[in-house]
Amino acid sequence: MVTSDVRVRYAPSPTGTPHVGNIRTALFNWLFARHHAGKFIVRIEDTDQERRVEGAEEAILDSLRWLGLDWDEGPDTADGPFAPYVQSQRRQLYQDAAERLIESDDAYRCYCSSARLDALRERQTKRKAPTGYDRKCRNLSQEERAEVEASGAAPVVRFKTPLTGKTTFEDAIRGLVTWENRLIDDFVLLKSDGFPTYHLANIVDDHEMRISHVFRADEWLASTPRHVLLYAAFGWDPPIFAHMPLILGADRSKLSKRHGAVALLDYSEQGFLPDAMLNFLALLGWSLDDKTTVMSREDLVNGFTLDRVVASPAIFDVEKLSWINGVYIRELPTDQFAEAALPFLTSGLPGDVPRPLDWSYTREVCELVQDRARTLHEITELADFFYTGGVEFPLALVWVGMGDKQLKRRVDEGADLSDEPVPEDAPVVTGWLEAAERRLIELDREWTAERVEEALRSLVPEIDSSTRKLFGALRVALTGRTAAPPLFETMEVLDRAICLERIGRALDRLREGHQRQRIDSAKATPTSD
Ligand code: GLU
Repeated sequence: MVTSDVRVRYAPSPTGTPHVGNIRTALFNWLFARHHAGKFIVRIEDTDQERRVEGAEEAILDSLRWLGLDWDEGPDTADGPFAPYVQSQRRQLYQDAAERLIESDDAYRCYCSSARLDALRERQTKRKAPTGYDRKCRNLSQEERAEVEASGAAPVVRFKTPLTGKTTFEDAIRGLVTWENRLIDDFVLLKSDGFPTYHLANIVDDHEMRISHVFRADEWLASTPRHVLLYAAFGWDPPIFAHMPLILGADRSKLSKRHGAVALLDYSEQGFLPDAMLNFLALLGWSLDDKTTVMSREDLVNGFTLDRVVASPAIFDVEKLSWINGVYIRELPTDQFAEAALPFLTSGLPGDVPRPLDWSYTREVCELVQDRARTLHEITELADFFYTGGVEFPLALVWVGMGDKQLKRRVDEGADLSDEPVPEDAPVVTGWLEAAERRLIELDREWTAERVEEALRSLVPEIDSSTRKLFGALRVALTGRTAAPPLFETMEVLDRAICLERIGRALDRLREGHQRQRIDSAKATPTSD
């Protein structure tokens, strides 16, 4: 039961484009805030100026906007109660805090040069001893301190970590975490340039900004004992901590570029819908129950509770994401789907297709492929034949379309049928398509799916074919593929002229192919005289 006012934060460092793991952390914070009618705060942790990347802050905010994770206070809310929300603009606060710890004897100035620290680390590494500061400046006498100060060395401020005892805290996901203090060194709070380290700035801000719960990535778990010690030194109540489970790729290794896109916005470019992505990310470590997968934003907000977040790693399964995305695509009203698809078609179709694409035609096309698309990106591949001047296919594909099992198996195995000889019954198939062509030419009134279907169905018995064979052959002739949207609707959208042109072209190729074959086999047959 959460009683106090919920204030949670997403505190990214602008060191690059946010990846799905970062944004999953943001999402869990956001869901928790919205579930408890609390506040979601975005704070930019840019105190490590060397790792700062130009444009990263914008990419972070764009990622949040794309998913619809709105924030109540953040870098753009100059009037927020705890503004500014960018750490580099709050340096005085951290310097005062460090000073306070020096006064209470919980921190000290350290004058060791980086050369000394490097040499120290080298010695420790050689001895295979744990690396860390040897606390030389912790116990400087008054005189020694005055002496180094007089030398003008710029000090850092270090925390006086208790030398013995243990630090414990209750992680809301992992339970009790205990750390031996002797394993924590006297970590730096303030650098010699006056910038705070992550540890100091992070806890000062969490305290100042009244953060109630800190939900962050698993990798920060080892930092939390330091933070707990700092809270105690300041005499502040720590927030509730929860460390999110790790995200692994499908092969169970840590999610990385090897697994494909990791930057959130890449998924937008690949044609994933923000709502589908949100749904998928929410399931990386959390679940409503054991069966529900597809959940609206509202369902997620209502259902999100910390007790359903697990400690064990979550698997980032792109197949599952594509499946969820397909569900969301099918649920979109056609207009909205077509609007989302239009830019993908515009950039994906071959260069010789005239732009801008016709909107009402594109809408009709989209209506036909909507059920089949798992991403917006796939639409080009599913629908290109609606736009291209003609269709390319190996002639033998017509037989695959008609149900030839052997050829189909070869296609499934990746065979390219380009050099496949035209089967023996080519003249029969040619005859069927000629009959279909004539029937369609006779269909001079309205060209609708129903009328085309009626005309072609009635033809089947007359030519002694089967619907499967005739329609299968037509599908390949018209679309260049064996799997396409429903045939008659496709023909209606392609329209009469294009259909007749493509059937005519397929017939020419069939006749040609058959003719060539006859010549070839005549040449190959030895003459008896
Ligand atoms: N700035 C840290 C990061 O980039 C924040 C960690 C935390 O949430 O405390 O992940």
